Amino acid sequence: MELVCPAGNFPSLVKAVDNGANAVYIGLKNETNARHFAGLNFSKQQIVKAINYAHKHNCKVYCAINTYPRENRWSRWTESVDQAIDLGIDTLIVADIGVMDYIRNKSQTFPIHLSVQASATSVEALNFYHRHFSIKRAVLPRVLSLAQVATLAKKSSVEIEVFGFGSLCIMAEGRCYLSSYLTGESPNTQGVCSPASYVQWENKGDILESRLNHLLIDRFEKNENAGYPTLCKGRFDIAGKTQHAMEEPTSLNTMDILPELYQAGVAAIKIEGRQRSPAYVATVAKYWRRAIDQVKSGRSFSAAEPISCLQELAEGKQTTIGAYERDWQ
Ligand code: SF4
Repeated sequence: MELVCPAGNFPSLVKAVDNGANAVYIGLKNETNARHFAGLNFSKQQIVKAINYAHKHNCKVYCAINTYPRENRWSRWTESVDQAIDLGIDTLIVADIGVMDYIRNKSQTFPIHLSVQASATSVEALNFYHRHFSIKRAVLPRVLSLAQVATLAKKSSVEIEVFGFGSLCIMAEGRCYLSSYLTGESPNTQGVCSPASYVQWENKGDILESRLNHLLIDRFEKNENAGYPTLCKGRFDIAGKTQHAMEEPTSLNTMDILPELYQAGVAAIKIEGRQRSPAYVATVAKYWRRAIDQVKSGRSFSAAEPISCLQELAEGKQTTIGAYERDWQ
């Protein structure tokens, strides 16, 4: 079981590698990846430096080119593929079938991982991508139960990667346009949910208000943690009661079911958070490295201590196993 860690910049990549990541995933400085935030991602020179450092420490570098190209900017995606392959990236993480086809026309064997953005949740979908594009692995959306993940790991023709820890994007990945509704930009095309340029914070006495493109998303009392204003996690007036309309701010943490994921044959655990700090990446990578090694060695495994430490780093300081433990789907 591989530990795949996020790297939004070179210092985070170094922390991930030094704390035991088997692979790190990065993006280029454009809208071809789903974390196109100001100050994040890698230039050409930085990619060379990143690959050198990671490979020296036996760690692979994956590059996410996982947004959906727009017709008038298609070359942006093909140039990004060319650049990543030429620079020596180990694997491309891709969602769009046009981009996959472009890669396969360049090389029959270059490793492709199906991005979570493709939102593939059935054996048939995974086998389709394998049959037509020889994908090596698929990253599953965070909407499946443990039993469903186990079935896919057993029956599909590809390796399975699942999210282990990090912010929860509650919609079926690759299909959420809530951010576009308010700002005209969403992760699917421009690589960003709720772009910072549309975010407003305003202190009103003891209350802190957050807005997205001038729409009130939430109000926080002095003693509350103020979350980033995404529409999915806002509090709204519903039938006269102000409450979270879709989901409370929380992070996914599957450490409690790590032995079951391992037994199910899951090939890799992915840590979310390219937008997080190097210190965050270091701490999360360290705990997950230790946990995976413990589970793989067959030693008795207790997730209690790492879970309580990781809780401090979680959104809203609370974690959930999310869809893995739901008895409805
Ligand atoms: S609005 Fe929420 S669910 Fe939709 S992409 Fe953004 S974080 Fe994910």
